Amino acid sequence: MTIWSQMVGRIEKFGSHSIAILFAVLATIALTMAGIVPAIEQTNRDLRSLVFERAASGQVAVVEMDSRSLKAIGSWPWSRKIHADLITRLSNDGADQIAFDVDFSSASEKAGDEILSAAISDAQAQVILATFLQLLSIHDSNYSENLPLEMFQENSLLGSVNVHLDALGHVSQYDYGARIAGKIRPTLAALLTNSSGEIGKSFLIDQSIDLTSIPSFSAIDILNGDVDASQINGRSLIIGATAVELGDRYTTPKNGVIPGVYIHALAAETLSAGRDVSTIDGTALLLITLALAVLWWNIMTGSKGDQNRLVLPLVAMILILSSWGFFVYALAEIEIAPSIIFIVCLFLADLVVETSRTTKRERTIDGLTGLPNAIAMMNAAEKKTIAEVVVAEIANFVEIESMLSAEEQAAILQSMAKRLALLADDEKIFRTGRNQLSWFVAKGYANRLEEYFDTAATFALSPTQIGSKKMRLKLNLGYHEGPTSNWFQLLSDTTMAAHKAAQMNYRWLKYSNDINQIVDEKLAILNEIDQAIESGQIWVAYQPKLDIASGEVNAAEALVRWDHPQRGKIGPDRFIPILETEGDIANLTLHVLKVTLENVQKWAASGLYISCSVNVSAALLDDPKFISAAISLVQKSKIDPDKIIFEITETAALDDLIKAKAVLEGIRQIGIKLSIDDYGTGQANLAYMQGFPADEIKIDQSFVKSMARSDVDRVMVSSTIEMAHKMNFKVVAEGVEDADCLSLLHQFGCDTAQGWHIGKPVDAIIFEEKWASQPQAMRA
Ligand code: C2E
Ligand code: CA
Ligand code: CA
Repeated sequence: MTIWSQMVGRIEKFGSHSIAILFAVLATIALTMAGIVPAIEQTNRDLRSLVFERAASGQVAVVEMDSRSLKAIGSWPWSRKIHADLITRLSNDGADQIAFDVDFSSASEKAGDEILSAAISDAQAQVILATFLQLLSIHDSNYSENLPLEMFQENSLLGSVNVHLDALGHVSQYDYGARIAGKIRPTLAALLTNSSGEIGKSFLIDQSIDLTSIPSFSAIDILNGDVDASQINGRSLIIGATAVELGDRYTTPKNGVIPGVYIHALAAETLSAGRDVSTIDGTALLLITLALAVLWWNIMTGSKGDQNRLVLPLVAMILILSSWGFFVYALAEIEIAPSIIFIVCLFLADLVVETSRTTKRERTIDGLTGLPNAIAMMNAAEKKTIAEVVVAEIANFVEIESMLSAEEQAAILQSMAKRLALLADDEKIFRTGRNQLSWFVAKGYANRLEEYFDTAATFALSPTQIGSKKMRLKLNLGYHEGPTSNWFQLLSDTTMAAHKAAQMNYRWLKYSNDINQIVDEKLAILNEIDQAIESGQIWVAYQPKLDIASGEVNAAEALVRWDHPQRGKIGPDRFIPILETEGDIANLTLHVLKVTLENVQKWAASGLYISCSVNVSAALLDDPKFISAAISLVQKSKIDPDKIIFEITETAALDDLIKAKAVLEGIRQIGIKLSIDDYGTGQANLAYMQGFPADEIKIDQSFVKSMARSDVDRVMVSSTIEMAHKMNFKVVAEGVEDADCLSLLHQFGCDTAQGWHIGKPVDAIIFEEKWASQPQAMRA
């Protein structure tokens, strides 16, 4: 298991959403500390400025000391007389205020200074002069203030023109004023707009003002009288350097590098529009967002659906738009960056967690059936310390695969899983392999495993309807209990048990250390048969034989049955041949004979007088011990020997039969009847049977069943009956499955009929109930 999947596992236990929130909080803290907030804040303002771009009011205009003016005037710095001329011109044209973003702190030639001083005092308009702070030196962090000459100050106001850079190196904010050496100094823009604000506090310059809409004039045009008075009248003018060669340029967020004089103009426009709103710190909003996220996710955890995640971009959008609205309506400048960072991080974290969960989920799902797969089972095992595991191997899966389409295969596996789910912990069935379904045993079965597997077997037994087909999954279950710390061992041991069970035809098998020594079904049968007889797993069923002439059941055939606790019903065809060649068929046969004698006697006691045949393997005719034991059993019973028929299979070997003639005659002398079973399947023909010590022959079912359809078989049956009668044999027809067959046999003069049409083999009690008082003769 990778570290990643372990981590995701841990996360799942916590609930992925709360983990996403935690991730987002940590990421927000980290990104905030990394200094990303101002950039985002600025981006938001830039967007807002673009969307809400508007024209300046025009109240503030700029008089540019531009290159053209510099060239026209020729010398630099300008003589104070030129500034005086500007004041006089503008004032005469009706200017309201004339502000200088120009340094007048040092004296120049005396005459010029006096002219300027006079112009200031003569001006109709209010004159504002610039003061600015200057660092004493780069080694000294104290400032000194550069003030205009005393003579200029007398009739003017002093406005601070200092600007400062924000975290991104831009001039984005502006002050109301500064306290310098104990004196309060309003800023130029504050003076121009007559605004008051908290000293030392800044406001944001509204970048949405279109810079080009601020009226501007070249100083030389003013001096030359080229500007119409109406352009000046009533306006506030800021005079400042704009020529590149004069420096005094600053980087601003939206307009790039602009002359300082325009910064004052923009600040004044911001103030006059009342957009110098205060900034609301982002922390509070972040906390609210966080609280909402927690709340929302508590609600969301219950529900599923990806569209919920879209709420996040939506919330971010709402935050952005409302921050714009607040600013545009001059309510406040809200810091949304921390919240936006949080939301984006949350969105991404949730996406990552969810995606990893989805891929994890996909990795744990079986592609064909949608059932959880082996990885899912391993994950589930991790939550337990000890597990009881069942693996069901589907023995006939190859057949299923070849007969069913993929969808049909999925359907049959799903339907089986649904049935088995009742037995499984969490009702979860895992498809752990192509032909394997596995699960954990549900609690409460520990002491009832036998019953548990009987139930499982019953579920497995009934076929599933797949489209028009009815299919049965043949399941062999393996069971093992152990610590999950070594999960692969536990699962593979259980699989081994299931596989062994399949090999041995067991319905289920518990894993044990010596499981490998269990060789095959054959050995198991040989090992278990004696115990099975003793414990009653072996019992005898009886199938009725109908006397065709009278229409009454006057005989039965004893057919042995084995109900194995693990393997279910084992048909005689599966164990008789093994016992015949390698085991103790004598013991079994004597058991069947003994039980049958008891039953025949019991039936007679309740008025059902009936003869009964017992199958005797031809090999036993060579076994004198068996013969004498069988004869003595019959003789010791209170049954007439002629009520007992030994059926000997014709296919056994004709030679053996002939050799055994003497033995057969001995049996017949006691009174026991003899029947030649499965007649027609061996090499014998009736000519051989001439004078053979038998009382009846049983025509094999293969001829009888197909008689209605096959002329050859019909002729075989009718001629056999005819000739057998000539040789004084009674004739039994086996495999009579319908009324037509019975009526044909009647026509042919057959003596006895046996088959499902008359009755299936049932246990002695049912047999007695059914035939003790025969309701009516079953006439052909
Ligand atoms: P069998 O002696 O030929 O027994 C007849 C078989 O045909 C029985 O199968 C019976 O259930 C089945 N059968 C009866 N009527 C019908 C019918 O209408 N249609 C079809 N399709 N089948 C029918 P079962 O019980 O499975 O026995 C199989 C064989 O096992 C027997 O064949 C017999 O050879 C052997 N067997 C059964 N019990 C014993 C026993 O106690 N000792 C010995 N040595 N062999 C036995
Ligand atoms: Ca038989
Ligand atoms: Ca037979």
